[in-house]
Amino acid sequence: MLIVPEALIAQLVSADDAFKAIEACFASMARGDAYNFPVVREALGEGRQYGFKSGLDRAGAMLGVKAGGYFPGNGDKGMINHQSSVFLFDPKTGKPQAMVGGNLLTALRTAAASAISIDRLARKDARVLGIVGAGHQAGFQLRAAAKVRRFERVIAWNLHPDMLPKLGAVAAELGLPFEAVDLPRMREADVIITITSSPAASLMAAHVSPGTHLACMGTDTKGKQEVDPALVAAAHVFTDEVAQSISIGEAQHAVAAGTLDAHAITPLGEVLIGRDPGRRSAEEITLFDGTGVGLQDLAVAAVAVARARERGMGIDVGV
Ligand code: NAD
Repeated sequence: MLIVPEALIAQLVSADDAFKAIEACFASMARGDAYNFPVVREALGEGRQYGFKSGLDRAGAMLGVKAGGYFPGNGDKGMINHQSSVFLFDPKTGKPQAMVGGNLLTALRTAAASAISIDRLARKDARVLGIVGAGHQAGFQLRAAAKVRRFERVIAWNLHPDMLPKLGAVAAELGLPFEAVDLPRMREADVIITITSSPAASLMAAHVSPGTHLACMGTDTKGKQEVDPALVAAAHVFTDEVAQSISIGEAQHAVAAGTLDAHAITPLGEVLIGRDPGRRSAEEITLFDGTGVGLQDLAVAAVAVARARERGMGIDVGV
């Protein structure tokens, strides 16, 4: 079994690797070659969440689990709030193959998912990127989004405005003008990424213009909510996995309220394999409900392990 610690991941997996791996993962799910097992997610108190995301990809020969969660007090200890590890097993025998640091991989695979949704669903002429949220994950989402459209500027809102300059620095690195705005000015955006841990909607229907693509990435647990359920109900909704979208994703609220039919939600993989056309007009609002599936974690962990083996990196514990 190979151990690939967190400190090696940045040398082994790039944002482009993650983009390709997640496209293949969503396509595999749409073809029925891969499926996710039910998510286990438990509240530990004081805002801490812990759980397991797992799955099997027959085509990619991947079986495994990501164990981890969200620990909101970590910032004070100089750590990021998400902490996770991925375990890979041989799908034929169950033998453990690898244990891989999951923190950077989570950031990369989550950014890749929203970028794939922008690539496939946003209007080609999208020029203004809006971001709601400015925590650890926001910079990754911005970097990945900037690779798939020619954005000319970035506007951002965060409940805690003191966090915005860090996101502004990422925009500056990318050569993009950056402005902190209030929520009604999100109407200027052609694409909006939401990436907060909010328990109630911030982005309302009145804050979004026709033709916008929304990548809603923060809601990955029961009880979280980033956008107005009326906006979700009015949008053309896509997701990584419908079962997660309606139970722990942004769509959970509109589905529970009876304003969105679960059958109207399309897996993004269907678009990737050409079975669904995606956006239907320049005016419709498309919304990707990115809940984060276990197969995404396995896909990027498998890249890390393959690269580490090629380069003789990691710690082989020989079992
Ligand atoms: P973080 O703790 O670094 O940042 C949290 C963000 O949420 C900050 O922008 C903060 O200002 C904002 N926020 C906190 N309380 C809020 C409130 N009450 N209303 C509005 N905004 C509020 O977290 P992060 O690593 O940037 O992750 C952000 C969110 O994305 C978390 O909810 C996390 O669970 C989720 N996430 C989802 C996936 C996925 O695959 N869908 C993957 C990683 C993270």
